[in-house]
Amino acid sequence: MSHRRPIYLDCHATTPVDPRVLEAMLPFFTEHFGNPASSGHAYGWEAEAAVQRSREIIAAGISATPEEIVFTSGATEANNLAIKGVAEAYFSRGRHIVTVQTEHSAVLDPCRYLEGLGFEVTYLPVNQDGLIDIETLAQSLRADTILVSVMAANNEIGVLQPLAEIGACCRDRGILLHTDAAQAVGKIDLNVQAQNIDLLSLTAHKIYGPKGIGALYVRRRAPRVSLAPQLHGGGQERGRRSGTLYTPQIIGLGKALALAWETQTSEQQTMRQLRDRLWHSLQNLPDVYLNGHPTQRLANNLNVSVAGLDGQALILGLKNTVALSSGAACSSTNTAPSHVLKALGHSDELAYASLRFGIGRFTTADEIKQVAQACFTTIQTLRQSKVHHPPHSGIRN
Ligand SMILES: *Cc1c(COP(=O)(O)O)cnc(C)c1O
Repeated sequence: MSHRRPIYLDCHATTPVDPRVLEAMLPFFTEHFGNPASSGHAYGWEAEAAVQRSREIIAAGISATPEEIVFTSGATEANNLAIKGVAEAYFSRGRHIVTVQTEHSAVLDPCRYLEGLGFEVTYLPVNQDGLIDIETLAQSLRADTILVSVMAANNEIGVLQPLAEIGACCRDRGILLHTDAAQAVGKIDLNVQAQNIDLLSLTAHKIYGPKGIGALYVRRRAPRVSLAPQLHGGGQERGRRSGTLYTPQIIGLGKALALAWETQTSEQQTMRQLRDRLWHSLQNLPDVYLNGHPTQRLANNLNVSVAGLDGQALILGLKNTVALSSGAACSSTNTAPSHVLKALGHSDELAYASLRFGIGRFTTADEIKQVAQACFTTIQTLRQSKVHHPPHSGIRN
């Protein structure tokens, strides 16, 4: 048992590259290595043509046009470009931004940075299911509000915010809407026209593509979004993001999204069944609670709180069987309770003992069964060991 690698259920942190994606990328490291910006010879042309195909795939999948796609190093950079880029371009119109307490740090931190520059940011609360209230959003909007940023799907609790309603609310008032769709793209339908989205961030490595590549959709018509570039240089991506395009990664992003969209309906159905099976098994234990809305959530996400246990002890107890996280992977060195679970109104103690399961394309029914059994025994054992941890109140990040 200890020699085998644990079952991977941390797909909100990252996913393996699908072999079909890798296969599509490989020729662009060696044979087709040209710089897409080299317009004077065939090496450049073939790279540019392949990049353009990727752009078209991505655009079509969200009902955008290819010129509206800007390649970035991932969702962190796309979020930074969207938020800081809009703030810098529109500051003479207003300096108020609205976002949500449960956003990813790649949205919250650029907002905090802008506060330091004199912008004002409203961090909307969520209800106990993790959803924002449209009325509260509407009331927060002011004459000087330039941007609303609300994630499509939460990376910890999988909750899906009502994007179409949010989009309508912003559009009515002429306010730009950005959405961090890193967890949502390829899993739920996204349509920048129907949902009135003006900027949308995505990343490849959450959907079986390579790390280090993502994109920002930037609306060009009705309204045309102005964006101040955050990287200056060769003027690539119509001046919106300088730097030589990372061709193999861009091909990988396109292929990963094409595969995800091809299989979205059936794949989500399969994952939902596995997730529900796992949740049913865990419900046989007393004092295990579901975090986040029961139905308005990603099909591959399960987030539970286990009362009276320490989250880190639980993760360690399970580590030989299953690889998962007790919160956001990017803050796993941080021992403070998850800001997302706290925003749901949990006490620190309950927030601590939480498990985030992220089911993936390659997860099997047998693996889910093994994980359910391991959780059952580990939780029982830890509870019987009667080790009582002191409450964690007082620890803040
Ligand atoms: C993973 C993730 C990010 C960061 O994406 P990178 O491509 O790793 O920079 C941002 N937002 C959300 C919601 C995520 O899940």
